[in-house]
Amino acid sequence: MLHQPFDTISYCYVTDCKNTVNLAENDPFKRFTCKSAAKKQRSTVNARFWAMFDVFLQVLCLRAVVFDAGDVFLQVLRLPSAVFDAGDVFLQVGVVGFRSLCRNSAACGGCSFKNCHRSGFWKQGGAGALLIDYHTHHARCGHAVGELEEYVKRGIEIGLHEIGLSDHMPLLHVDPADYYPEMAMPMEELPRYVEECFGLKEKYKGQINVRVGLEGDYIEGCEDAIHAIVSAYPWDYVIGSVHFLGTWDVTDFRQTAGWDGQDRMAVYERYYDAVGKAAATGFYDYIGHIDVIKRFGYKPDGDVTDMEDAALEAVKRAGIAIELNASGLRTPAAEMFPSRRMLERVLDLGIPLTIGSDAHHPERLGQYLDEARALLKEVGFRQLATFEGRKRRMIDF
Ligand SMILES: [Zn+2]
Ligand SMILES: [Zn+2]
Repeated sequence: MLHQPFDTISYCYVTDCKNTVNLAENDPFKRFTCKSAAKKQRSTVNARFWAMFDVFLQVLCLRAVVFDAGDVFLQVLRLPSAVFDAGDVFLQVGVVGFRSLCRNSAACGGCSFKNCHRSGFWKQGGAGALLIDYHTHHARCGHAVGELEEYVKRGIEIGLHEIGLSDHMPLLHVDPADYYPEMAMPMEELPRYVEECFGLKEKYKGQINVRVGLEGDYIEGCEDAIHAIVSAYPWDYVIGSVHFLGTWDVTDFRQTAGWDGQDRMAVYERYYDAVGKAAATGFYDYIGHIDVIKRFGYKPDGDVTDMEDAALEAVKRAGIAIELNASGLRTPAAEMFPSRRMLERVLDLGIPLTIGSDAHHPERLGQYLDEARALLKEVGFRQLATFEGRKRRMIDF
């Protein structure tokens, strides 16, 4: 961590806290106090000052510089967005800075920053860790519960740093009027969905990073229509998920009869073939629940390792990522998507990975993500992918 170059500096002009921030012994941030620089206070908060400090920090190889409270707080983070919040009270890049500051709440005597130390951040994620959930749905699709804002608020409550809103793309290749109901939002809702997401992103800036996404089905033969949707909005990210084989949604619990009389190996082949094609389209930032075909427990007779690996190699060639989708734990498959074996292969191939709960209820936001992170650490992952403006950035977790 410490030897990596710094991308951004966050800084916080503190007016509330009267005491020095005491960092714990084992804190990865090193402490540096500088009274004279602190006295420069807000008047010195300009680009040149911070650029200078960036160099200074790199020379000293410090991850963070903490001035006495009442002055200026600085922290080096590797987060993508700049957040300017709360007027003159504090400036922040990313969302971690003030939480770090408020960690020692007893000493600081409380401060007015939203969420402050109550976020549970240190308990849940540990120092320097960032909690993210990049796969969520909401009421528009018809089969999920809760408004987008409820998910965002819940995200703040459970101490998420980033929440990805990723509702299902409207149906393209089947007529919603005579298909199964409650599959996805109607097409005319899409602009309102995007608008609402960006509104929330703005509204909750400084409290949580909202990322605006879409779970974009890959449907063979519909590439033009998918491309039109993917390119019509300024998404932060688009998930490529294969739910449909033809008109059969293999992830729909109402459609499991589709397996009846099928050669399961052939179904798996069709599925993984579609995943490979999805990866190659260039439409997507990552592939969702890459082995979701196992969802209902219809196990094929043969070995599908080669098919799984071929799909991962297609992902690798496309230069995109995949997700660890924890929702598999509550399906008959009773394991996450993908399996541990595939995760090991993902690591070998150097494919970036993000995580998501696939929550369809605000209460399920972040569900099983503790287990997901533990599994990833066990396998050997050290970073997770985050996305903004369709650019990927790796963060520690
Ligand atoms: Zn859904
Ligand atoms: Zn899905």
